[in-house]
Amino acid sequence: MHTIDMHCDTLMHAFLKNRNSLEKADIFSMPGSVDLDRLHRADAAAQFFAIFLLPVGAEKYFGLSEPLSDEEYIEGCARIFRQSLAAHSGIAAAASCADEICRNFTEGKVSAVLTMEDGRAVQGRMDNIRRFYDMGVRALSLTWNMENCFGSPNSKDPAVMSRGLTDFGRDAVYYMQELGMLVDVSHLSDGGFYDVADICRKPFVATHSNCRALSPHQRNLTDDMIRTLGNAGGVAGLNFGPEFLNEDLNAKSSTAALIASHARHMADVGGVGCVALGTDFDGIEGELEVGDPTKMDILASALREKSFTEAQIDMIFRNNAMRVIREAMK
Ligand SMILES: [Zn+2]
Repeated sequence: MHTIDMHCDTLMHAFLKNRNSLEKADIFSMPGSVDLDRLHRADAAAQFFAIFLLPVGAEKYFGLSEPLSDEEYIEGCARIFRQSLAAHSGIAAAASCADEICRNFTEGKVSAVLTMEDGRAVQGRMDNIRRFYDMGVRALSLTWNMENCFGSPNSKDPAVMSRGLTDFGRDAVYYMQELGMLVDVSHLSDGGFYDVADICRKPFVATHSNCRALSPHQRNLTDDMIRTLGNAGGVAGLNFGPEFLNEDLNAKSSTAALIASHARHMADVGGVGCVALGTDFDGIEGELEVGDPTKMDILASALREKSFTEAQIDMIFRNNAMRVIREAMK
């Protein structure tokens, strides 16, 4: 199906598996959920590939014997992205704006969009944002789950959750929109979300966040945030992870019906124009009914069950994200 998925963590796995032989790394066929082969067979329109910065000090957790600098990791992920697309140019190609996605689509190719999750690598310097943009990065999640130069993360602590952007974060959001890099508020504090909404003159995105009214995880969006995002012309990508879908945060099951319930609620609150896809594939665990890009038809059926029309399903699967890309990415 012609989908645009705004978030996956596939590059991280490709890097970790091939750290010492990057020239061999290839995302054509991967053991997890996302790879170029399945995206192509699924007729996907575009996949965002995040460079998800590994948490500081997590080397052991990720099976690394030696320390890893952010720069080595970012350059490695970007290299895997570039060389995989070069090796499979018949079925996929990089895209950095709406016109390139359209052109790739007409040529029967999946578009791959490079993004970054956790703005800590920016280190409080505008020239780093420019450098990542020149590297091809077209969306940046301002924070992950730690404080950084942009602001504070989502948190169970109300004091942290209410904190806004830093002064640098405010200037950087403005600069990113000037450049044509999507501003991503997934993982950001609620206070930071409202600062972004204030500053942005173009639509912004929550690439992989669901509804807090249905699943109380602090990463999800409140109804007021969904309304604010919708009014700004932005989109939220439906996250397929069990912890962001269920009322019970310990539940391990992700079903198409649950994803469709979040889509229904999001559309009822913010308008169907604010609903998109942000699977979080290869960054989530559990029993996933819609477990890879070739299974999106299961979600389409579940959306029909929730009274979405075919035109609205096209909006959720592709057109809403495409509208934001056209307005805010260049
Ligand atoms: Zn994430």
